[in-house]
Amino acid sequence: GPDLPPGLPASPPNYQLNPVKTLKTNLVGTINMLGLAKRTRARLLLASTSEVYGDPEKHPQSEDYWGNVNPIGPRSCYDEGKRAAEALCYAYKRRSNVDIRVARIFNTYGPRMQMNDGRVVSNFILQALRGQPLTVYGEGDQTRSFQFVTDLVSGLIALMASNYSQPVNLGNPDEHTIGEFARTVLSLANSSAPVHRLQPAKDDPHRRKPDISVAKRELAWQPTVLLRDGLLQTIHYFRHRLSVDEKPQNEL
Ligand code: UDP
Repeated sequence: GPDLPPGLPASPPNYQLNPVKTLKTNLVGTINMLGLAKRTRARLLLASTSEVYGDPEKHPQSEDYWGNVNPIGPRSCYDEGKRAAEALCYAYKRRSNVDIRVARIFNTYGPRMQMNDGRVVSNFILQALRGQPLTVYGEGDQTRSFQFVTDLVSGLIALMASNYSQPVNLGNPDEHTIGEFARTVLSLANSSAPVHRLQPAKDDPHRRKPDISVAKRELAWQPTVLLRDGLLQTIHYFRHRLSVDEKPQNEL
């Protein structure tokens, strides 16, 4: 199969390609970084995830919710890996007073995202631009809440500048079903591609939406970019990349 990109991929098809490597990156990688932070007295940022909430029984998800993760399912290498990474952060903090910040990052998109990593935003934009069927897994009534990359970056900067060392959700609470999201992408991309329903993905979280009251209170942060505006910028980027990459050789 294809090689994993360096670092830890967040895309389900990618991290499921090599579940052992995904667990090792989270466990050994986080231990290495916490050891380094301890020795150098550096502040450490853990890029955690909404996946710690699993297929949530609480909606929207706030930081005090402990989650509903299948410990042996196909997503567990990622979900349990990130949960263990959080546990390691708080163990090092208690034991050695390491200065940690923990961001629970919800679905994020924007220009320069990986185009072929198999996640919903990149899949739907590529399919819409190529006039291929949009692949909706299951009924399309599952929901996600998409955050534009610049909002995430400002949240991470505010978190690192703050004195708050408990986990913080960073995401956009604007929630959409995947079926609705497919129609939005088609309309913004001016595409008449059809929508196809495929098999549902196993253990796919049914609903996901961040409760961001902690980030508002502790960081005075909230997202500002509307889905429509962020998607238009992202579609523009994909269109440009496709026109460069797919130009016939003799025109270059
Ligand atoms: N999804 C889909 N078609 C695709 C890719 C994803 O319907 O081509 C759905 C997927 O089942 C999930 C949602 O879109 O409900 C978000 O999936 P993604 O892989 O982007 O990230 P996740 O939030 O699950 O980590």
